[in-house]
Amino acid sequence: MTPPDARPPLRLGCIADDFTGATDLANNLVRAGMRVVQTIGVPTGPVDDVDAVVVALKSRTIPAAQAVEQSLQALRWLQAQGCSQVYFKVCSTFDSTPQGNIGPVAEALLDALDAPFCCVTPAFPATGRTVYQGHLFVGEVLLSDSGMRQHPLTPMTDASLVRVLQAQCRRRVGLIGHATVRQGTGAIRDRMAQLQAQGVAFGIVDIVDDADLQVLGRALADAPLVVAGSGVAIGLPQNHGLAPGADAARLPAVQGPAAIVSGSCSVATNDQVQRFVRAGGAALAIDPLRIAAGDDVAAQALAWARARLGAQPVLVYSSASPEAVRGIQQSLGAATAGELVERTLAAVARGLVDLGVGRLIVAGGETSGAAVQALGVAQLRIGPQIDPGVPWCFAHAQACGRPVQLALKSGNFGGPDFFTRAFAVGA
Ligand code: ADP
Repeated sequence: MTPPDARPPLRLGCIADDFTGATDLANNLVRAGMRVVQTIGVPTGPVDDVDAVVVALKSRTIPAAQAVEQSLQALRWLQAQGCSQVYFKVCSTFDSTPQGNIGPVAEALLDALDAPFCCVTPAFPATGRTVYQGHLFVGEVLLSDSGMRQHPLTPMTDASLVRVLQAQCRRRVGLIGHATVRQGTGAIRDRMAQLQAQGVAFGIVDIVDDADLQVLGRALADAPLVVAGSGVAIGLPQNHGLAPGADAARLPAVQGPAAIVSGSCSVATNDQVQRFVRAGGAALAIDPLRIAAGDDVAAQALAWARARLGAQPVLVYSSASPEAVRGIQQSLGAATAGELVERTLAAVARGLVDLGVGRLIVAGGETSGAAVQALGVAQLRIGPQIDPGVPWCFAHAQACGRPVQLALKSGNFGGPDFFTRAFAVGA
């Protein structure tokens, strides 16, 4: 019998092949009623008592053997927490090449779990990703007719997920078509058993709307492994008697003023910066050329911020127009410019938390990675959503010895008034 003070086993263990994908999945699980922690890499210490943990790897485009090794390490950690179901989160556009990494990682997970079969679907209808007759659609067009055709690392030139996955693995791939999904949970389970009896290990599942995701979720109640985008997450918490509600998203309160650090030069972030400045917000632009010239730009920014921290958020940004960025890159080289700016903004993020900032937005995927590292954050408890894909998170900033709430926004996410509106969410 379980002693009364023993921690209940983890309900769902997730392995995500990149950081923003991990947040997307965690966000969906929270919205469907699970309490979730996202870890940066495989945890080395204990995590909070939650329903699901999402281990964020950076394994989407590394050599397949390394992706397998890292994923198995994550699996061993999740199994040690007692989780009975594993969710391998892949990109909603199934980003991969004939070498992997979806197929090799999925096969390794099946082997390690001693499982004969799993369902696979990157579908997430709310974001325009649907699967029909095994073909992935991005909005109204086939994956192979979308911008993904020209992706620099993982060009997707075939929309047939059965073919794409089959090229990456030894086991056979089959289809659970929409005619089956439409008949309900029992029909999906029958089809899973039928495919398994035929020696098929992976069933690509057709999904065209959220109702399909709920039906599939119920059919997966006892599945040891699911390979999916973030959409399938909305159908799984119901298997544990959990339903959408505000409780799962409640975060511990933090003290201190609000700040924003922005290193994204995306169209959306540039708009958000402009909107914040026009609304009269206190904002300081960082000049990469001054960093390259040897000025201690981070210290200058922190001195500027220290005098202004208070009731209203302050913004420190390097975000700039495409022409300005091109000019900087021509002077410094793109890689050097990026690295200098990332290092400076990470130091600013850390300095702001040292100055007492309690809630911090970081804009930019790479910028967020650098900031999280500088803050010494190993795990994030996922809280309320600000905008699709961007939740507030609670974390211990070990480098600063303090708790903090973070919103890590990848470049193109968030509405135009994100910087002014975000601090009202979950406050
Ligand atoms: P996004 O999520 O929009 O891609 P990232 O933070 O991932 O944002 O990437 C932006 C990159 O641009 C980072 O490497 C950052 O350091 C760099 N960068 C930011 N501002 C400038 C600038 N003014 N000039 C040149 N590079 C910049």
